[in-house]
Amino acid sequence: MTRNLTGKTCVVTGASRGIGAEIAKNLGRHGANVVVNYRSSEGEALDVAETIESEGNSAITVQADVTDGIEVDEMSETVHEAFGPADVLVNNAGVTVDRTFKNMTREDWDRVMDVNLGGVFNCTKAFYDDLKDAPEGRLINISSVVGQQGNYGQANYATTKSGLFGFTRTLALELANSGSTVNCVAPGFTQTDMLADVDEEVQGKIRSRIPLDRFAEVDDISGVVQFLASEESSYMTGQILGINGGMEW
Ligand code: NAP
Repeated sequence: MTRNLTGKTCVVTGASRGIGAEIAKNLGRHGANVVVNYRSSEGEALDVAETIESEGNSAITVQADVTDGIEVDEMSETVHEAFGPADVLVNNAGVTVDRTFKNMTREDWDRVMDVNLGGVFNCTKAFYDDLKDAPEGRLINISSVVGQQGNYGQANYATTKSGLFGFTRTLALELANSGSTVNCVAPGFTQTDMLADVDEEVQGKIRSRIPLDRFAEVDDISGVVQFLASEESSYMTGQILGINGGMEW
């Protein structure tokens, strides 16, 4: 295991569970000082930080709802006090509120926009100067294959995840002259609580469309994020990397 993130401060939003938790642990294994953000799962976030520390690396947990700009700004102050400016921000926090469009309320729509895009706005805003000034700044957005393909019952979610493509490419241009990079990963269906919420019959139909014939594990995603956070990816920016077992889009 290379420790190519030693001394780097990496902020992972929604790192208490699922993909974000594994991203946080893996960045820690590569030597990073990790900020484990969560909204409500305090115990799980503490477990993630404890795992990182038990492996000889540094982590803090920070409670902040990414939809709340004030809480996010306070998180950035906490990060500065603990570790100094951020080198890497992983915009991972995300939610689903699934309904066919016919049944979707404006509230269902707004909730998903607020977290999946509003949260990305708040967190990127709070850490923008850090990333711009960092010697190897990295902004990594977690989208979804659903942003590429659309998905029945997920008009709100698919829209937010496609929105991250435009955001990624634009921020890549705006940060390019600082040498910092901005990339996006689009995971396929991954074994987390989010997938567990999907009806089993629907899961079966999805799986039949995956050429590798399995759902992703969280470490299928975290390895690619670690690569994007590292110096090895320094000539990649504005890219969207699908990690989806070969699903077409
Ligand atoms: P998950 O298991 O449901 O975990 C979601 C994480 O986001 C939790 O740590 C949760 O924190 C956090 N979170 C939710 N709302 C938040 C808020 N307002 N402020 C701060 N944190 C918040 O989800 P996941 O499957 O790991 O998904 C992670 C990301 O990958 C999401 O962006 C998702 O869209 C994307 N993705 C997932 C899949 C999949 O199949 N699982 C596929 C493609 C892309 P608390 O528990 O503390 O509330």
